[in-house]
Amino acid sequence: MPATPSWPPKSAPRLFVAEPLSEGLVVDIGGNQAHYLARVMRVSAGDTVILCDNQTGEWTAEVSDVAKRYLTLTVTNQLRPREEVPDFWLCAALLKKDCFDLVLEKATELGVARIQPVLMRRCVADKLNLERASTIVTEAAEQCARTALPKLEEPVKLEALLRHWPEDRLLFFADEDGGRPANAAFAASAGPAALLVGPEGGFDDAERAMLRNHPAVSPISLGPRILRGETAAIAATALWMGIKGDWPDEK
Ligand code: SAM
Repeated sequence: MPATPSWPPKSAPRLFVAEPLSEGLVVDIGGNQAHYLARVMRVSAGDTVILCDNQTGEWTAEVSDVAKRYLTLTVTNQLRPREEVPDFWLCAALLKKDCFDLVLEKATELGVARIQPVLMRRCVADKLNLERASTIVTEAAEQCARTALPKLEEPVKLEALLRHWPEDRLLFFADEDGGRPANAAFAASAGPAALLVGPEGGFDDAERAMLRNHPAVSPISLGPRILRGETAAIAATALWMGIKGDWPDEK
């Protein structure tokens, strides 16, 4: 995967927009994004902004007008095509708000393809504000220079997740009661993968039995300590990226 180019400067603001980008396209930016560009980043006419559309990739755009509530930009050059994303899903138990916010942000930075919130019997939280979650994911992608957004799904119950699980995807189940060491399990695996991490109270006996009987599930251990759910999700995702993801790619 190519490194971020040296021009424009890394400090140029980056934003995801909804419409597909192309050279010469004129884009109006309003709402919070306009506030961010005009008031926080203090961009003015002639400045360069980096735009991504989650479809074609990353582009430079020149600010042509700064009005009170919106900015107008003209797309100039393509910097990078949309990146290839490692085929790794994070299926994380819905945690209390701040903890799950952290999971959303770090999973995005680490490069997962899909984030699937999962409802389990011992979850403390039972609802996710999808719009707010999507903003966290988008801002994390802007900050870390991703050109692709992870797909963020609505929460599903564990039973439903397993019932519809795709045959060809391995599901690593982070089990605090023990399993194969995660580094060995990841290294020995091939193909599409996913990680399941439990909630604050862990998995109950029925959930653990259902998981251990599922043909796609591979129980893993994340070491001798009991990690918080958010730590387990972030640490195991980082470990998978280091062994099977895009960390080993030459820049
Ligand atoms: N209440 C549980 C207990 O005391 O046994 C702990 C649950 S832990 C806070 C949340 C989740 O993180 C677990 O369900 C599991 O998915 C994951 N986890 C934490 N430590 C782990 C470890 N050492 N090995 C595998 N998974 C772990």
